[in-house]
Amino acid sequence: MRLNPAAETIAESDDVIRASLGGALPPPLLCSVAQLTGDLSLLRDDLRFDPAKMLEPDGGYTPDQLALARDIAADALIQFRNSGAVAAPDPDRATLLRLIAFASGGEVDAEFLPLLEEELALNGNDLRAPDWNARDIAPDRNFNVGIIGAGMSGIAMAHRLNQAGIAVELFEKNSDVGGTWVENVYPGCRVDIPNHFYSYSFAQTVDWPQFYSTQPVLQDYFASVVEETGIRKYIRFETEVVDAIWSDGDQRWTVHSRDAAGNETTSVFNALVSAVGQLNRPKMPDIAGIEEFAGASFHSANWDHSVELAGKRIGVIGTGASAAQFIPIVAEQASHLTVFQRTPPWLLPVFDYQDDVPEGTRWLLRHVPAYMRWNRMWIMARTNNGLLPLATVDPQWQPQDKSVSALNEFLREMLTGYYSLVVPDDALRAKVLPKYPPIAKRVVLDNGSFPMALGREDVTLTIEAIDNINANGVRTSDGVQHDFDVLIYGTGFEASKFLTPMNVRGVNGVDLHEQWGGDARAYLGITVPGFPNLFMMYGPNTNIVINGSIIYFSECEAHYIHESVRMLLDSGKQSMNCKVDVHDQYNEYIDTGNRAMAWGVSDVNSWYKNEFGRVAQNWPYTLHDYWKQTRTPNEQDYLLS
Ligand code: NAP
Repeated sequence: MRLNPAAETIAESDDVIRASLGGALPPPLLCSVAQLTGDLSLLRDDLRFDPAKMLEPDGGYTPDQLALARDIAADALIQFRNSGAVAAPDPDRATLLRLIAFASGGEVDAEFLPLLEEELALNGNDLRAPDWNARDIAPDRNFNVGIIGAGMSGIAMAHRLNQAGIAVELFEKNSDVGGTWVENVYPGCRVDIPNHFYSYSFAQTVDWPQFYSTQPVLQDYFASVVEETGIRKYIRFETEVVDAIWSDGDQRWTVHSRDAAGNETTSVFNALVSAVGQLNRPKMPDIAGIEEFAGASFHSANWDHSVELAGKRIGVIGTGASAAQFIPIVAEQASHLTVFQRTPPWLLPVFDYQDDVPEGTRWLLRHVPAYMRWNRMWIMARTNNGLLPLATVDPQWQPQDKSVSALNEFLREMLTGYYSLVVPDDALRAKVLPKYPPIAKRVVLDNGSFPMALGREDVTLTIEAIDNINANGVRTSDGVQHDFDVLIYGTGFEASKFLTPMNVRGVNGVDLHEQWGGDARAYLGITVPGFPNLFMMYGPNTNIVINGSIIYFSECEAHYIHESVRMLLDSGKQSMNCKVDVHDQYNEYIDTGNRAMAWGVSDVNSWYKNEFGRVAQNWPYTLHDYWKQTRTPNEQDYLLS
């Protein structure tokens, strides 16, 4: 996959140019063409994005507005081609603000302009690259960092530290990079955040074949990033970290790892980054008799492709985001499929969810690559604050069992309308229509394929509780026995068990898991008191529910961590240990935020809560908020020694 490609020359006819803009939406189209040509008259007031219409198809633009925007953009591109295709100089600050305001449909807070510039990375300008280098600020120190995991977060971290001249070594338990995107190979696996946003700011591509790409495409993307950044040589594949022990004496982490052949190695690092993810360890359900099933069985994250599904009687347990993706495909192969649903997910309609990027838009992306960047900007503008109010609790709103505010109720009614469309059968709709507030648990993107699969004649949706699993299949609490050849567990992950099964010991040999006691917490999701120079990525309370891309969070964390290394080198200190009061105060702030969100007040089952009912996964505030707090480590927050 090509990263940050240069624009191709526009040499096509007027007709080709006009036809190519047929799928483009006004905010990214007009911003990218205005930037390319310097013609700011394209940013017309009557074509400005209205954030109030963000949930509507085509961003709420009318057919006339769409036609007008595409027309004036085509005119500008034709003129650009005719006048020698000389790109306008990079926009100055005022112009950039104007463009961003147009894409986001409102005035831009100047405080966040640097963030938006970083996200845009216009012309491939990587503004998040460290502006320091170890050889300049601490030429005499050999500070090295161990990184656990070469998935989405670990790759970003290794790249940034490598840019800063810090030696890195990555431990990866799999045989390739990509983390979740190399492990989850179940049929239908794809991302549910548009790829122009679900990608690194420093590695944009015009080559996404679909807006929401499938697992092999994503794995290819991460592999391309690893090649392009040159970090593959630092990765030790098929090597799992067993334990990590902090030494107060020499202020370093000692890491014991084991490779696929069982060989153990010891490595010593000044700092250690855990980039193992939250959704990393498959969770098997605690159902009596599970080991007795005599047929083939596997978890969605350990899909066994050697098991023939065609013509088989198949049972699927779970109806989360993973199951919703593979059920339509399994249903096509099975002689009969039975789905066991405990809690139905809310389905969020996204009609182009499985569509290819149209040929015209591909042309546009190749010839005006800034389109991908402005599309990213527009998606970010819509999701940053835009969707959070839909999940925010209004304390006056009663009752709160089905919705938590007027806006949440509006969403509930809108989604309920969608169910009438895609689940015409009343009996089935009664089973699949959730009874809890939308966004209280993870919504599932849908273009109709999942509910339509549930409605097939050869598919049965069972909502009876499972009593036990036995040699022949599953017995439900109504006494009915369901016999299967194959049983598939779409039962999710051990999301609350951060950093398991590693043994991690900090100051005075304290065990991290004992300190947490099942209730993982961290400062900014990154540092933990008593565990100096240990940094987490996608740690506690950094999961994003409705307003953004988890890659954005990892980039913020990578920034904070490399800035922390810089702080240590600049100050001549060996270690930084988060202060307990800073950590505790921060966690109160997090808990307060989560209690004000649908996922915090609802008692529906979800992986967003740990065994104590505390939301230990989610970030309840805006993307801006997290960026602001992770700009630079504050020396006052740490004990430096
Ligand atoms: P999940 O959302 O945790 O869903 C697990 C499913 O298994 C739920 O329906 C759950 O029911 C059910 N279940 C668990 N234990 C059960 C039991 N003992 N008996 C009956 N049912 C049981 O897991 P997931 O679908 O793998 O998704 C996890 C997360 O991964 C998603 O929320 C998302 O963040 C991410 N993901 C993303 C994508 C994407 O980008 N498109 C795709 C897949 C996954 P309850 O709801 O009642 O607990």
